[in-house]
Amino acid sequence: MISFENAYDQVLQHTFNLGDETVSLLESTGRVLSEDIRADRDFPPFNRSTKDGIAIAFSAIEKGVTRFKIEGVLSAGMPQQTLSKDTNCFEIMTGAVLPEQADTIIMYEETETEDDYVSISKTPNKGQNIHRQGTDEKEGAILLKKGTEITAAVIGVLASVGKNKVTVKKLPKICVVSTGNELVEVEDKPLPHQIRKSNSLSLFAALERVKITPTLLHLADNQAIIEKELEKAINNFDVLMLSGGVSKGKFDFIPDAMDKLGITKVFHRVAQRPGKPFWFGVQKEKQKVIFSFPGNPVSTFANYHVYFLPWLKKCLGLKVEKKQIILEEAIQPHPSLTLFVQVTTQYKKGKLMAKTVKGNGSGDLVSLALADGFIRVPPGTDEMTQETVFDYIETT
Ligand code: AMP
Ligand code: MG
Repeated sequence: MISFENAYDQVLQHTFNLGDETVSLLESTGRVLSEDIRADRDFPPFNRSTKDGIAIAFSAIEKGVTRFKIEGVLSAGMPQQTLSKDTNCFEIMTGAVLPEQADTIIMYEETETEDDYVSISKTPNKGQNIHRQGTDEKEGAILLKKGTEITAAVIGVLASVGKNKVTVKKLPKICVVSTGNELVEVEDKPLPHQIRKSNSLSLFAALERVKITPTLLHLADNQAIIEKELEKAINNFDVLMLSGGVSKGKFDFIPDAMDKLGITKVFHRVAQRPGKPFWFGVQKEKQKVIFSFPGNPVSTFANYHVYFLPWLKKCLGLKVEKKQIILEEAIQPHPSLTLFVQVTTQYKKGKLMAKTVKGNGSGDLVSLALADGFIRVPPGTDEMTQETVFDYIETT
């Protein structure tokens, strides 16, 4: 059995580069850019008006002109016009192109219109109310670096530079495998000795949040079936994420099956609770990784967040950030196991604070739904006082 720290390091040492793929703009939300994005033109691309009002030549102000003849009306989307005389003005709307020979915009609020003339009540500053071409970014400038996570705001930038196709980091192809003779489908009515599958559905939902749609596979606790089906799955997927069948029970066939299929065990069993029987293996040459979690719902769920998500982030070249939280209560650590304790969280005076959720062990999946995450309590003998800071693993 190895320590949590050791297990975590080992998992992060077995990441691999997934390569790149090109997807359509709207499919790229939540993915990671694998190309630098440059401005295809100046930002803004022309001198644009920032107000609804009139465009004039400041030279007229210097000559004492305060009343201008309206030469026309410019809306956003019209090509550039030219002001023919400096005693004239154009009415101009926000987003419209500044006419040639004009250099100053006065908003309607500071003007009065009478027939074809506009008078101004206040002397403007030369050049006011113009968002100048190229003042945000110059053509060719890098707007977004590769490695950027594609948020809604990033989609806006990509759209404005004409990226209808975007090169992003590939995501691993994942098969979520549930095992157990006791498990029936969600739509089935279980017999007294059966239960409905929940882990695979919960993992499916968790993976969808990171833009991965896994394939679901269920295997009976039958050695021959497990070996045959896992061999196929290993060939077809980058990652197998299993739940159940890795403990010390008579029907826990997964570790032996992995061994027979040529998967190298990196570790089996971690000094932690929940999730102790976690089995982790790889096939380096083919870049395959196997996360085999114990079947108890809380164990599977905790290990997914503790190990798999950081692994995925590292594969995608993202920073694996550690979050911390203050526990409002005192807590007794376990002498030899790292504990993952379910908590609810709340901001108090600007600080993220946690309270433990009273769960009923690793089979209690209802308490899981009430928690916001887990705190990691390192092994120890002495009670940890109220207000101790813990690493926090968010699950919501
Ligand atoms: P195992 O790790 O296979 O010994 O399973 C431990 C416990 O988790 C048993 O009570 C199983 O019935 C339960 N379990 C295993 N797999 C699942 C699953 N996919 N959904 C819900 N419970 C499960
Ligand atoms: Mg089982």
